Amino acid sequence: MMDLLHWIDGAFVPATNGGWLPVTEPATGQTFARCAAGTASDIDRAVQAARSAFPTWSQTTTAERVSILERFAALIDDHCDELATLESQDGGKPIARARSVEIPRVAENFRFFASALRHEHNDAFTSGPNVLHWTHRRPRGVAGCISPWNLPLYLLSWKVAPALAAGCTVVAKPSEVTPATATRFAELSGEAGFPPGVLNIVHGLGSEAGSALVRHPDVPTISFTGGTTTGRDIAVSCAKQFKRTSLELGGKNPFVVFADADVDRAASEAARAAFSNSGQICLCGSRILVESSVLPEFQEKLLAATAAMRVGDPAEETTHIGSLVSESHYLKVKQAIEAAPGTVLCGGGRPNGLPDRCREGWFLEPTILTNLPESCALEDEEVFGPVASVRAFSDESEALRLANATPYGLAASVWTKDLDRAHRLVQRVEAGVIWINAWMVRDLRTPFGGAKQSGLGREGGIESVHFFQEPAGVTLRLGDPS
Ligand code: NDP
Repeated sequence: MMDLLHWIDGAFVPATNGGWLPVTEPATGQTFARCAAGTASDIDRAVQAARSAFPTWSQTTTAERVSILERFAALIDDHCDELATLESQDGGKPIARARSVEIPRVAENFRFFASALRHEHNDAFTSGPNVLHWTHRRPRGVAGCISPWNLPLYLLSWKVAPALAAGCTVVAKPSEVTPATATRFAELSGEAGFPPGVLNIVHGLGSEAGSALVRHPDVPTISFTGGTTTGRDIAVSCAKQFKRTSLELGGKNPFVVFADADVDRAASEAARAAFSNSGQICLCGSRILVESSVLPEFQEKLLAATAAMRVGDPAEETTHIGSLVSESHYLKVKQAIEAAPGTVLCGGGRPNGLPDRCREGWFLEPTILTNLPESCALEDEEVFGPVASVRAFSDESEALRLANATPYGLAASVWTKDLDRAHRLVQRVEAGVIWINAWMVRDLRTPFGGAKQSGLGREGGIESVHFFQEPAGVTLRLGDPS
């Protein structure tokens, strides 16, 4: 049994009150670790360490900061196999996905923000021969970073890397459902050379440790990724203290296929968009909208592409879809399928042929439903599991109406060869991330975030670094003003 401790002030420490939370491998249902159950006093200890480390860290030169960030990226690359194995065990995600997509992206996040820092520039102006104006950005202090369980280290590092690059010190609260990689990451941060207190990780429940971090008066900046309901509570709490807040929340994303699209490609990408990571990615395309004239052909190809995805033991290299993250999440997703007033085209149950090791695991077949009413829980609410719906539309205006028909506005994927139409839709689809003839192709320089109830603010590019800094407009008058 592994013990996952807090990382505070450069050392592993247990929870102040000695509490623990069990950590379960969802593919087997077996508890394999326990993590420290952080409370407000652990958060306070971490915030005090981060406050003490701030004056020195915030004054490091760009070259020093860049070199530590790059060293950390290299160490993560060196430990990719180990981190991927832990991530797969902790979250039930396919090992191949963890090793080839998620952990490399953790390293890339640090490399990217090191490079962004190296290339950062601020505007300067003259308003007369002797008057200079420029922007001075100073780090905002201790940053609170709260991340979910679906892409545990990938999303944690997407916040921590820009915060550290900006010169802030950090207290991070990973999801207690998947705390394993964050613990190893903390240890590696020490090897990379971050001084004690610069990065602190506190495990624990959102309702205890998470909420204490959000409310802490010495943490002026909160970056949160998670569900919309939690995000709303955090926004209210932060508003009371005028904290700067970034919220990356849920999605119910449309995947829109027009008759002129490459139907083969659209169908295979629709399956990938719906079922990658068991549908537990905020960007998954869970509402597949198809122009009626190609619906029969598309549906047949979508079902074939789905059938070709192998659900199995996440530890096996050839598995495409692993387990869901926990028993409670499995029950929630299963209940959403059972309550849906539609026709199940495929899936809905436990997959056959799982190895003995996975007998007690939380597996669900990829599930596609159709004939649902336009408004029902499955169409309106984020399920966050391997579940998608298919619906026909007759023309572009109906496609647009359906695409925008939920309170969410995170991502949309539009498939058409008509570039005029694509351009029209880019202007009208209510989403923060829009793909044309693609899904999940990202460039870290572009803004990332949601419209409507999918969030507030944008991550990505230099904006992520600026989020953690306070800009000041500075004016310098030179010479004798008389
Ligand atoms: P939650 O909102 O339940 O939790 C996210 C994190 O916040 C966890 O660390 C959680 O801790 C913590 N937390 C919970 N309650 C509070 C609170 N009151 N104060 C402070 N922190 C709290 O989300 P899930 O972990 O269930 O993650 C899934 C959600 O994340 C989905 O809705 C998904 O769409 C969204 N998401 C959004 C992304 C985006 O970029 N827009 C990307 C990925 C996911 P604990 O685990 O202990 O509850």
